[in-house]
Amino acid sequence: MGGAGRVPDPAAGLCSACRQARVVRSDRGSRFYLCERSRSDPHYPMYPRLPVVSCDGFEPEIGTLKAERIPPD
Ligand code: SF4
Repeated sequence: MGGAGRVPDPAAGLCSACRQARVVRSDRGSRFYLCERSRSDPHYPMYPRLPVVSCDGFEPEIGTLKAERIPPD
């Protein structure tokens, strides 16, 4: 999937609507959220404990998509 945005999942909290999250599926069908910020900042766990209800690094995915659609000057 990708690019079209995600439907926020209350069970996952903020990660489900964050542009820094990547959905990872296990062989058994379980779904995890990998925090891309963890690659450069150890403050963030690679697999956050869900639901994440507060996070300084949260970046709304929808806001990002809107910004990308603004034509350049
Ligand atoms: S920055 Fe925060 S909200 Fe975004 S994926 Fe990482 S832990 Fe989740």
